[in-house]
Amino acid sequence: GQCITHCPVGALRERDDTSMLFSALEDENKIVVAQIAPAVRAAWAEQLGLSREEAPVEKIVTAFRRMGIDYVFDTTFSADLTIMEEGSEFVKRLQDGDLEEYPMFTSCCPGWVRFIKTQFPDMIGRLSTAKSPQQMFGAVMKTYFAKKLGVDPERIFTLSIMPCLAKKAEREMDLFYEEYAGHDIDCVLTTRELDRMLRAEHLNPQFLEKGEFDSPFETGTGAGVIFGATGGVMEAALRSAYFLVTGENPDADAFREIRGVKRQGWTEAEFDVAGNVIRVAVVSGLGNTRNLMEAIRRKEVKYEFVEVMACPGGCAGGGGQPIHDGQELAEERGSSLYFLDRDTEIRFSHDNPDIQNLYEEFFEKPLSHRAHQLLHTEHQV
Ligand code: SF4
Repeated sequence: GQCITHCPVGALRERDDTSMLFSALEDENKIVVAQIAPAVRAAWAEQLGLSREEAPVEKIVTAFRRMGIDYVFDTTFSADLTIMEEGSEFVKRLQDGDLEEYPMFTSCCPGWVRFIKTQFPDMIGRLSTAKSPQQMFGAVMKTYFAKKLGVDPERIFTLSIMPCLAKKAEREMDLFYEEYAGHDIDCVLTTRELDRMLRAEHLNPQFLEKGEFDSPFETGTGAGVIFGATGGVMEAALRSAYFLVTGENPDADAFREIRGVKRQGWTEAEFDVAGNVIRVAVVSGLGNTRNLMEAIRRKEVKYEFVEVMACPGGCAGGGGQPIHDGQELAEERGSSLYFLDRDTEIRFSHDNPDIQNLYEEFFEKPLSHRAHQLLHTEHQV
């Protein structure tokens, strides 16, 4: 994350994206729909001088309503959707014998996707085709949700609050659906930009009440929350993959071995899923990633599933999060996400009733034709 944080191009890009949001808010024709990423809740209060207890994510919801944002949703919800698609893709590849030589890699970190495209282009086919939660969210808003509201997708303006600078570039991904041709996401603001904007709007979180996320995408699970921590995507995917293979839920903490920030090298583990031995690895930071990729290529190690996050410690330590000189907070923020996971009622993405409903009403099932059209992408160099 550090190199991205201090990159002059990143700084330039970050400068004035809030003005895009303000133009949309002034445009009466636009319906502004916001999503807030899991890792944001672990860090947004730091710069505002509040503790995590004083600054639950629901206060951002209230701030957004005051600013005139029409709908506020939690990216945790679309993280669950990503898990449904990616978990199903993993099980399919496993059953098709596609993982015998090389693993499937996660694809939700655009910093990593850019890295593999430039550094290991021959491995691109190993990336999951599932879009990231940010992009899936936008695709759902401009199709299913627009239909629900009975409005033209052109009127929907999708805003995301992300811990990440690379997400700003990821938003350029095209979306074609029926008559609509555009982008999943219209504007990406970082956690730092969010903080600056709240200050500029004189919205002091200390005095805000907690608000409620909008329906019909209200419920996110503990599995969606841990997306913001290194190892979290893998853990969430394994919880659902286990269910897909066996028809039963595992213990929600069965895969806890892969938690925690590893500064050097990577974490590996082996799990038995209905008689299938699944070898997994979790890595964060691009230096560690390069070493892992080389070891995989040299066949020194063998995995079926690998999670990669470009920023050390995953999105909790992302390049768009508040910066404190000399302090590395990824680990502490990650732990607070696991803490939230432990306390959520639903800890499996496939048990999320809003997700089940979305499949029933719109996508039919994971990897369906429509899911492929909207929720997956073909990675190209
Ligand atoms: Fe963005 Fe870093 Fe998270 Fe990757 S790990 S999605 S680059 S914040």
